[in-house]
Amino acid sequence: MKELRERHEKEIIEFQESCPHSEISDWMPYMWAPGHYSHDVRICIRCEKLSRWKVDMTYDQILNEYITFLWRAFQYDMEVFSQPWIYWTFLIPALMYLGFFMFKWAIITVPFWMPVVIILKSIEGIFRKSKWF
Ligand SMILES: [Zn+2]
Repeated sequence: MKELRERHEKEIIEFQESCPHSEISDWMPYMWAPGHYSHDVRICIRCEKLSRWKVDMTYDQILNEYITFLWRAFQYDMEVFSQPWIYWTFLIPALMYLGFFMFKWAIITVPFWMPVVIILKSIEGIFRKSKWF
């Protein structure tokens, strides 16, 4: 019986290792024992392997999640700007939210502008060291 179970587990591991994990489920509750909720996990729909986020997700899936997040954040902000009360009292609430809006978007778009800043800084550093200017 022990041998049978070991062979079975080995087959599951081999199947999971050969799976590309291309279809990941939505967040679902993880039970370490029936009825004992631990935390939310995502699993591969095909082989049921637990997704370790960044590790098992493909680049496309991460990008897709990120774009969805940005789109939801944008829709939320547009909803705030479409509220009539935000334009009361000399546009003060609107201007305050605009300040928060720009700060928030500077942070959540870091993956876009951070590489550009790093590249520009290093180019600037090369020019400065070489005394061409
Ligand atoms: Zn899989």
